[in-house]
Amino acid sequence: MNIYVLLKRTFDTEEKISVVNGQIDEDNAEFIINPYDEYAVEEAIQQRDAHGGEVTVVTIGNEESEKQLRTALAMGADKAVLINTEEDLDNGDQYTTSKILEAFFEGKDIDLILAGNVAIDEASGQVGPRVADLLGIPYVSTITSLKINETAVNIEKDVEGDVEVIETTLPLLVTCQQGLNDPRYPSLPGIMKAKKKPLEELELDDLDLEEDDVEAKTKTIDIFLPPEKAAGRVLEGDVTEQVKELVGLLRNEAKII
Ligand SMILES: Cc1cc2nc3c(=O)[nH]c(=O)nc-3n(C[C@H](O)[C@H](O)[C@H](O)COP(=O)(O)OP(=O)(O)OC[C@H]3O[C@@H](n4cnc5c(N)ncnc54)[C@H](O)[C@@H]3O)c2cc1C
Repeated sequence: MNIYVLLKRTFDTEEKISVVNGQIDEDNAEFIINPYDEYAVEEAIQQRDAHGGEVTVVTIGNEESEKQLRTALAMGADKAVLINTEEDLDNGDQYTTSKILEAFFEGKDIDLILAGNVAIDEASGQVGPRVADLLGIPYVSTITSLKINETAVNIEKDVEGDVEVIETTLPLLVTCQQGLNDPRYPSLPGIMKAKKKPLEELELDDLDLEEDDVEAKTKTIDIFLPPEKAAGRVLEGDVTEQVKELVGLLRNEAKII
């Protein structure tokens, strides 16, 4: 099977994030594989081990993204592709990303594409479905189980806590949700092997794309952190008095009753 994983390098939302001039301050951020894409890499490896074939991990990014691609190779992916847009594009959106991926997949024999359900930084959840639409293949989002038998596919999908069971066929794109598997940590031999695995670097030109072909349809105007929460207020005194004071505060200050 020809299995592809769409992988995004994201900043770690568990670490401190600062915003400078309406942009995330990348110099002080920690970068990781988007956590949902780790499920995608793990599932790709398991499907390859069960059915044979090859796993290729693809990212659109810059030189820095090589680190996350090497991690995916260390987990067990076979090949990696970095589509480096640093020289060609100043900005982009989900349209840009999907159009570049469409060009990358042109002429390729695809059985399965796995993406994350959502990227934890910009969180639009658009890229997977957009790519499937551009390639004219079916897609199922937020999957928690994937069983493949020849070209028949049986999927369980998370629907706000409920489970939906879906039958479809290859070629297919799925977006991966927590619960699908437990992503492995790269082993030491895996890390050593990853250094020698192929990592191809492409630019827009290699995909026969011009800047105009992928020009963003939307523009991010501002990014800001939520306002810091004010400290809580502790009421004191007799319980009856406290309840009276609370009701007064809810009515007159918070204006919610
Ligand atoms: C050239 C370029 C310039 C950009 N410039 C800006 C900018 O100036 N300002 C700004 O705010 N944003 C910029 N972006 C980022 C862009 O707007 C989004 O991050 C991107 O389209 C993905 O959307 P999302 O983060 O909402 O991902 P989602 O749609 O939530 O991601 C879902 C899944 O799609 C896949 N995916 C997403 N992004 C990639 C990727 N890059 N490579 C491979 N797979 C991916 C992953 O599997 C991911 O889990 C740029 C992107 C590109 C390609």
